[in-house]
Amino acid sequence: MTPRVGVLALQGDVREHVAALASAGATGVAVRRPEELDGLAGIVLPGGESTTMSRLLGLVGLFEPLREALAAGLPAFGSCAGMILLASEVLDTRPDARHLDALDITVRRNAFGRQVQSFETDLPVDGVPGEPVRAVFIRAPWVEATGPGVEVLARVPDGPAAGRVVAVRQGSVLATSFHPEVTGDGRVHRMFVDMVSASA
Ligand code: GLN
Repeated sequence: MTPRVGVLALQGDVREHVAALASAGATGVAVRRPEELDGLAGIVLPGGESTTMSRLLGLVGLFEPLREALAAGLPAFGSCAGMILLASEVLDTRPDARHLDALDITVRRNAFGRQVQSFETDLPVDGVPGEPVRAVFIRAPWVEATGPGVEVLARVPDGPAAGRVVAVRQGSVLATSFHPEVTGDGRVHRMFVDMVSASA
């Protein structure tokens, strides 16, 4: 059966994730209201602007239901702003921004800031077979600290940010600092869809 995977559709690059999910063998459905969480096998939190998404989640009444669904084990994948929303601690954010506490990581928002705002690199990612992933970073966060249950899947290979953690997994929650949804390479989404199927 094709898993139904929600894509949080309040803001950000929703269409790209829906297309990437389709190429990875799942049906992506837009989620804008609490009742649209019902029956999902997983959820994607897209790239965009985490502080805006945090505010909109509260406004539409999705923050608490989504937080509860994640706490109850709903598999999730966050890219960039989505990684920030999933984190348990966020540095350099706005004081009123909230996060969903689904992943035991500390992230630094806009971490590549002054050095390199946006860049691309070829990134080997654990769990993604074959060639390295073409990773697109756009005002991206990095992971500053990981809790004991968190697996590091990728680090920046070279340059000023060499060694920084940019992909992690904890159980059925996956997060990347970069945007696998924009390159047409469905392998990271396929890894997530496999996680969704395994947890079903
Ligand atoms: N800098 C953005 C934020 O803080 C994330 C950027 C992105 O998702 N491309 O949410």
